[in-house]
Amino acid sequence: MIDDAVSALADRTRILVFTGAGISTESGIPDFRGPHGIWKRVDPADYTYDRYVNDPEFRVNTWGSRFASPLIDATPNGAHHAVTRLWESGRVVGCVTQNIDGLHTAAGLDPASLVELHGNAHRIHCIGCGDEPDFDKVERRWKSGAVDPECLRCGGILKTKVVYFGEELPPQATYRAWDMAERADAAIVIGSTLSVYPAAFVPLAVVENGNPMVIVNQGRTDHDFRATALVDGTAGNVVPELVHRLTRD
Ligand code: NAD
Repeated sequence: MIDDAVSALADRTRILVFTGAGISTESGIPDFRGPHGIWKRVDPADYTYDRYVNDPEFRVNTWGSRFASPLIDATPNGAHHAVTRLWESGRVVGCVTQNIDGLHTAAGLDPASLVELHGNAHRIHCIGCGDEPDFDKVERRWKSGAVDPECLRCGGILKTKVVYFGEELPPQATYRAWDMAERADAAIVIGSTLSVYPAAFVPLAVVENGNPMVIVNQGRTDHDFRATALVDGTAGNVVPELVHRLTRD
């Protein structure tokens, strides 16, 4: 219930916000494991780093779906904006997102307070030399027929800066997420099944330190039993109301 969530967070001043794919479904981006999740149509085992590196045809298909993805034109919804308002109120230690859509930044969250643990699909790098070409330029090359655009600096393989299965999390992002978790005095989880590791350990570390955790999610998560308060509803409805009640004084 939202009243329980407000009570759990009322006197907390260093809240860690942890978001998953569910916060962005109302922006038109499908989640993985929700009722209309992507995993009902594709096999997660396909999306491995090794396959990306070793299978040119897979890369061609990946670029094709990347540039046709709803991620490209998505805009933040009320929940992303509400997270930004909570941060502006000075009660957020940081926001750790599993999402790769860039919508927290688009909603005005300061990059210094945001950790994109699984990367960002709007950024591209060369896995050989580390060059980071401009996304729009690579897209233009793709539209002109470069179905598997190579690095213009070293000829290596280009890849979006998204963490694939079998790939390590970016060390700097991991360090910052754990630092935020250690400093937090509460956690709010929004739109995540809390089933992807090590990401899910971030809010769970806040709980391990003796702090409350509020979960806002449609449906069950793997860690409902650890929550101080559960709010089953859509992020676009619940999060603005929760933030309004936490910041109105
Ligand atoms: P998940 O798919 O495992 O879980 C999403 C949860 O959100 C589900 O329980 C679903 O019922 C719930 N949900 C869906 N719409 C909601 C809404 N409007 N309001 C509240 N809850 C809603 O997602 P996850 O836990 O983030 O983990 C899986 C992975 O998904 C992450 O690694 C992430 O990188 C990746 N992912 C990201 C995006 C994105 O960037 N937007 C999209 C798809 C997948």
